Amino acid sequence: MGCLDNINNLDLTKKSDLQTCPMLWCDSKLVYLVERYQINDMEWKVTLLCPDCWTKRELTVDRESVRQLLKNNRLGREKLMKQLDEMQKKNMTDETDKFITALENDHILPIDF
Ligand SMILES: [Zn+2]
Repeated sequence: MGCLDNINNLDLTKKSDLQTCPMLWCDSKLVYLVERYQINDMEWKVTLLCPDCWTKRELTVDRESVRQLLKNNRLGREKLMKQLDEMQKKNMTDETDKFITALENDHILPIDF
């Protein structure tokens, strides 16, 4: 029984880790899905982006993980939009340009969920 518990706990950790930035100095919880591609019934290839440090990851995950990530998407995008807003207020033109280019390249907007 103890073993089973451990496995379940590990599983949960893995799922929340998808939404946590792998960069120790960043540790954002708003990592979200920018691209997904279904490999087969069980597996999806996903591209994840951290809105805090722009770390991008490509992973193969199961269907449930995709669902979790989609739930997180709204938060991640809100965060991105806030950042963009702040950059514009501070008149960080270079940063804002880079940001918009990244958004366009990643097709972050619009995502139809
Ligand atoms: Zn990050």
